[in-house]
This record gives sequence, C-alpha cells and structure tokens, in this order.
Amino acid sequence: MDREYGTLYLVATPIGNLEDITYRAVRILSEADLVAAEDTRRTLKLLNHLKIKKPLVSYHDNNRLSRADELVERLKQGENIALVSDAGMPAISDPGEELVRICIREGVPVTVIPGCTAALSALVVSGLPTRRFAFEGFLPHKRNERVKRLKELAEEERTLIFYEAPHRISHTLADMLQVLGERQCALARELTKLHEEILRGSLRELLSRLEAEPPRGEFVVILSGAETENKKENPHRSGQDMEALVRHYEEQGLSRMDAMKQAARDLGVSKRDVYRSLNR
Ligand code: SAM
Repeated sequence: MDREYGTLYLVATPIGNLEDITYRAVRILSEADLVAAEDTRRTLKLLNHLKIKKPLVSYHDNNRLSRADELVERLKQGENIALVSDAGMPAISDPGEELVRICIREGVPVTVIPGCTAALSALVVSGLPTRRFAFEGFLPHKRNERVKRLKELAEEERTLIFYEAPHRISHTLADMLQVLGERQCALARELTKLHEEILRGSLRELLSRLEAEPPRGEFVVILSGAETENKKENPHRSGQDMEALVRHYEEQGLSRMDAMKQAARDLGVSKRDVYRSLNR
C-alpha cells in the first residue's frame, strides 16, 4: 500500500528575540521527523533553547539543489519536515522557494507556520504608508546594477522595502538619493533585539546621521514611493488628502497635533506643510 506523503512545514523563527516564536511553531518543531535548516548550528541553539531534540539537516544556498531531491524523497516516504531559515520566514531572501515549488509539483503538501519577518515588522513601525508596498529584498551589490535597479523603481508609487548589510547601507542610501531624489525613509535596525532603533527622516538626514554614527547590526530600509503625477501637478489635491488623512487619524483617537505629524510622515512632507495646507 502507498504511504501517505508527509508535509513540508515552512516555520517562521524569531528575527532576534527568542520569545517571538509561536506555540504552533514550537509544536511543529517538536513533532516533525526532521528539521531542515539554513545553518544547523544556529538552529541547534534555537532548538536547545526550546528544549527540542530533533535530527537536523542543512538546506542552504549552496546545497539546495541536491538537497531538495533528498528532502522530497523523505517527504514522499511519509516524513514530516520543518524548514527553517536563520531568522524570520523561510523563502523570504532565504532558501525555500525552490523546495516549495518542487513539493507542489510532486504533490507533496506544503503549509506555513506564520511568524516574524523583518520586512513587515520594519514596514509597520516605519510610519510610512502601509496600504500598498513592494518588497525588493537585497539590491545588487555592484553599483552599476544597483543604480539600474533603482532607476527601474523610480516610478513605483508603493512604499519600498529593502534588506541591506550595514557596510553597504550608506552607499545604498546615497544611490537612492542620487537616482530617486529626496524621499522619506526609515531605517529599522536590530528589530526585536537589545539595540533596536528606528531612524526616520529624509534620505539626506539619514545619510548624515549614518556618517556621524557608523551603522552596526541588521537593517531594513523602508522608502516612500514616488509621488503620483496627480499630486505633483495639483498641490490642491494633496491638500484635500491631508485633510482627509488628518481627520482619519483624529477619528482613530490621535490628538490634532499627532494626527498632523502622522499625516506629514505618511505623505512625506513636513509638519509645517500640513499645518499651512489645513489653515489655508
Ligand atoms: N528570512 C528573513 C525574514 O523573513 O526577514 C530575512 C533573511 S535575509 C538573509 C537577512 C536580512 O533581513 C538582513 O540583512 C536584514 O536586512 C534583515 N533582518 C533580519 N533580521 C533583522 C532584524 N532583527 N532587524 C533588522 N533587519 C533584519
């Protein structure tokens, strides 16, 4: 008789603070036959912290093609496999995407155990518009390719989310300023960790802060989208947006002053602009 296939569980793990793991993630990790991990030593620390003993195999960028076949074979034999990355959601700027595709093709069930991801955690705390956004992951390391990618994004109106390494962040912000012009930005640093810090301001302001204090730790860059042609050409229209936005935040319980501050952040303008527009 054919054995039933096992399930591939995509298990989100903390991006810093070990308390950020769900009850369900702990249960799935304890019940799985095998944990496939980007870095087995790092995952072993997490499993030890959770007091879970489990066989581990590595599944990382360099072995993912050969390892995928082996994992799919084990899933077909009925084993349940939990896939974890070093931090956050597997398959988000981390290995996993291909394994999911192969499992789907082979009829192996895939499910997700949701949890942290640095991208969305940074977005919601940035103060920039969250209604529509685009995740870009890491920009290319080579400057000419990075500039090319940024040029492709110049007209993008949605809030943009990038991952970046600390030693490249100033170069990246400088390229953003050069290619996209001045924009509002937030740098979410060391989220959920001891030195968590959110730097908010224009690209120029943030660049000078980084110059004064060299960046350390892990960063997500949140950048406001391009201004719509409509807003650029018709400042009156953006005045109406401001009023509506300020009213919206007041209805949510913010004071007039805080509502104006939040609206200024959302629209990437100064508080003075909001004040002027409302008192015209
Ligand atoms: N799979 C992960 C996720 O769901 O967020 C992302 C992995 S990617 C290889 C690592 C990048 O995520 C880092 O370079 C940084 O940009 C971002 N990141 C991860 N943890 C972070 C944290 N605690 N604070 C800020 N950024 C973080």
